[in-house]
Amino acid sequence: MIHGNNPKTQAKVYKPPHIYEHIMSKTVSASDLEKYAYCPLSWWLSRDQSERSEAEIEGSEKHRKEEGKVNEIAIKERESQRLETTILFFSFMASTISIFGMILWLPDSRVMSAILLVEALLWLIFSLYFLTMLEKSRKNRNLLERLTALTAIGSIVVAIYSLGFVFPKNTSLAMIMQISALVWLMVATTILWKESHIEQYVRKQRKKLDLPDGVIVYVDMDNESSEVLESAKYGLRGRPDHIIERDGYYIPVELKTGRTPRGPLFSHIVQLGTYGLIIEDITGKRPPYGILKYPEKSFEIEFTDELRDIVLKKRDELLRDLERGEAHRNHHRPGKCRACSRRKICPERLD
Ligand code: SF4
Repeated sequence: MIHGNNPKTQAKVYKPPHIYEHIMSKTVSASDLEKYAYCPLSWWLSRDQSERSEAEIEGSEKHRKEEGKVNEIAIKERESQRLETTILFFSFMASTISIFGMILWLPDSRVMSAILLVEALLWLIFSLYFLTMLEKSRKNRNLLERLTALTAIGSIVVAIYSLGFVFPKNTSLAMIMQISALVWLMVATTILWKESHIEQYVRKQRKKLDLPDGVIVYVDMDNESSEVLESAKYGLRGRPDHIIERDGYYIPVELKTGRTPRGPLFSHIVQLGTYGLIIEDITGKRPPYGILKYPEKSFEIEFTDELRDIVLKKRDELLRDLERGEAHRNHHRPGKCRACSRRKICPERLD
């Protein structure tokens, strides 16, 4: 999990790489950059939290609910993983006890035991051969992996079976062991039944929330328990709504609860791009893209060098305005002002 206590994100101190070093001792947040990218004055006015509009309060409430559901899925998926490990353990115990039970049932025969041991050795040689091939070859790795595992398991099973001809026959103990194996198997089946219910529920919820495939490794619960991710290199910080691990990359996902636009909004792209840079700094690998999830449609935003430059340019402009102690409207679009949540208190709004 990225959240909680990721050591890579601890004890990082922001050192601005340029002229703003003397005014800033902390990083710039992704949500500030989102507001700034929409309109610098919108960001400036948002600094007074008592002036939050009704739409903003309603939006963050919806947001909290949605994240609560994603968090529940993440918890259930971890529980499901734990149960899978328990099932494996119980199944392994059932099989082992059952095999030993069978061994005690077999007649006493040293010759048979020796023959089976030679067979086990042959399986082991095959297994080592496939392992050597696996190390050398770049092709057919899946097949070679399976053959290596199969021959290794075969070797173990035959070797154990050969023991049956060494031990003296003991049918009563063999019977007790088979009954005990059955009990272990019944427990494994009960856990499997529980696990399949959880899995079904998770699958349904994921579909309902239109969650992308992958493991949920971070969820912003909009409270103190969610770790703020920080990049010392870029002087940025933020809490993406969630992060999905997929194909070895950490993909940030940002939920937007308002109306669904025809295309992703510039300010939202800047916010998501900020998370991309933070994750790149923390993990050492820039995610190839992030996901902007509107109520009716999701967009994949590619994390290009161009987007990185835009984010850093906006960060510098924000720091400059912070140093000056003022910010102003930077556009001439009345439509933008009409959609702005701070228009009621804005001295520069366009009608
Ligand atoms: S009303 Fe217009 S000028 Fe004012 S903060 Fe909003 S977008 Fe900017």
